[in-house]
Amino acid sequence: MKHGPLLDANEFKKNLGWYCDVCGRHRKDRFISVYTIDFSRDFKCVDGTIKKNFKYCNDSRHCYNHIKMIAESKVYKITHPI
Ligand SMILES: [Zn+2]
Repeated sequence: MKHGPLLDANEFKKNLGWYCDVCGRHRKDRFISVYTIDFSRDFKCVDGTIKKNFKYCNDSRHCYNHIKMIAESKVYKITHPI
């Protein structure tokens, strides 16, 4: 491995990660999925106007269920700052 301020592309990809919007953990890219929820009707807008992408751990039932609960109830209850 080279030492220096620049990471090579593979090293960068390996370290690429995201924060889960539910549990707040920083996870590797492959463990994070995105779920888009349409909040437009809550704001009396046309469908598709106000959408938000939520990132969640795709290996965690807890995180997935939480996202699904939000999608179904449209209740914005996430405590972790987004
Ligand atoms: Zn999570």
